[in-house]
Amino acid sequence: MARLSLNAVSKSFGDKTVVDALSLTIEPGQFVALLGPSGCGKSTILRMLAGFETVSAGDIQHGDQCLSSTKFHLPTEERNFGMVFQSYALWPHMTVMENVGYPLKIQKVDRQNYQRRVQDALDIVQLNDFKDRLPSQLSGGQRQRVALARSLVTEPDVILFDEPLANLDRHLRESMEITFREFHRRTGATMVYVTHDQAEAMALADQIAVLKDGQLMQWSTPEDLYTRPNNEWVANFIGQGS
Ligand code: ADP
Ligand code: MG
Repeated sequence: MARLSLNAVSKSFGDKTVVDALSLTIEPGQFVALLGPSGCGKSTILRMLAGFETVSAGDIQHGDQCLSSTKFHLPTEERNFGMVFQSYALWPHMTVMENVGYPLKIQKVDRQNYQRRVQDALDIVQLNDFKDRLPSQLSGGQRQRVALARSLVTEPDVILFDEPLANLDRHLRESMEITFREFHRRTGATMVYVTHDQAEAMALADQIAVLKDGQLMQWSTPEDLYTRPNNEWVANFIGQGS
């Protein structure tokens, strides 16, 4: 397990800067939320961590390894980060077990390890009883749990989430928050979780980065964010509720 750090990372598209000299150090095993309104650059930051985007300035390090700088870019396949997105895109013709095991097939993991890891992943999200079902035979929350299991089956150090609960209704979101915390406890992985929902960030994260127009407004615990906002904008944003 290694520390993940962004050092003065910027990203521009044309002449528009969407991430502006962002520095963050994420400790191993921490659950971090990137919180801010739509368009503030959250997904772009996650995409740079995943390796889908290059950086325009600064660098990203994972322990001793450079992931990205203006001179170097480690491809996504070589980062072994888990990912869970809003549209969790399960293969409709594959069973739960086959969906979860798919990343291991790509990595050509041998049969014995394949069985063990898929089993472990299904245990963590409590889907063992559903392993032979097709996605169409599952509820929304169960499908999201399949996506969670799939993200951890390769035993990544870091798991990236982009608004994974945004398509679910409020009741289900709240029960999934419990699942996510349990998921974090059981995997011990570092988690970087993007959301525009203050309540969700507060409920899940150990540490929150509040972003506005690609800039870091505050980096603190949920408690500090609530009781000691850095400025009026943060206070208003946090106070809005959802
Ligand atoms: P968020 O996830 O916080 O809603 P994004 O990171 O998706 O924000 O987008 C931040 C800004 O960058 C937006 O103005 C968006 O339109 C712009 N943007 C994102 N990706 C691209 C791209 N590939 N090309 C041009 N502009 C982009
Ligand atoms: Mg986004």
